[in-house]
Amino acid sequence: MATFIVLLGPPGVGKGTQARILSETKKLAHISSGDLFRENIKNQTELGKVVKSYLDKGELVPDDVTIAMIRDRLFRPDCGAGAILDGFPRTPAQADALENMLKEFKGEVNAVPYITAAENILVERASGRWTCRAHGHIYHEKFNPPKQTGVCDVDGSEVYQREDDKVETVTKRIRVYIEQTMPLVEYYRKAGKLIEIDGTQAVEDVTKALLGALNK
Ligand code: AMP
Repeated sequence: MATFIVLLGPPGVGKGTQARILSETKKLAHISSGDLFRENIKNQTELGKVVKSYLDKGELVPDDVTIAMIRDRLFRPDCGAGAILDGFPRTPAQADALENMLKEFKGEVNAVPYITAAENILVERASGRWTCRAHGHIYHEKFNPPKQTGVCDVDGSEVYQREDDKVETVTKRIRVYIEQTMPLVEYYRKAGKLIEIDGTQAVEDVTKALLGALNK
């Protein structure tokens, strides 16, 4: 049966980094709603035009738009074995929609690792983050800089600071997360699927904790 893992955690906690590693280790597709939106904005698609102002302001894109995009992505062939969901769901309505979509796979959300860290750490991490233009590889100006400033180690493309990674927008995104996404923590805790992981550890240790918990 297909395996679906929802990664929960506030902006800046290292969710995207861990989602990439998990997707490679577990051979599951990586679905990042934020990356999908950014790709659409870069390619100036109709969807990109609709969502740009929400991303710029650090607000959530409306549920119907987000759910339709994820639905499209989930039904592509590379999700046959399952997926790591990174950034979706972010509201209770999205979680309900996901449950219904997965029924069509005869699947369900199998586990929900919840990566946490204190707010001051999140702001420092997200506001120092640099992202590769071509494939979204993630760096940090202090903790994990690329070997050559401004150039991605993996694919040589430009490394840039996301508009919404500036301090004011990061702070806003954390507030939006607390208001709109925190209810999901309780939702998945009640369902017995929540696995809490300390996100203040080094990247390798977070990965170890994640894999250890998921392999149980
Ligand atoms: P992220 O890369 O996950 O930090 O997402 C960046 C931005 O994309 C967010 O601040 C939202 O504007 C938008 N976004 C990503 N995922 C969702 C979602 N599941 N629901 C609504 N908006 C989202």
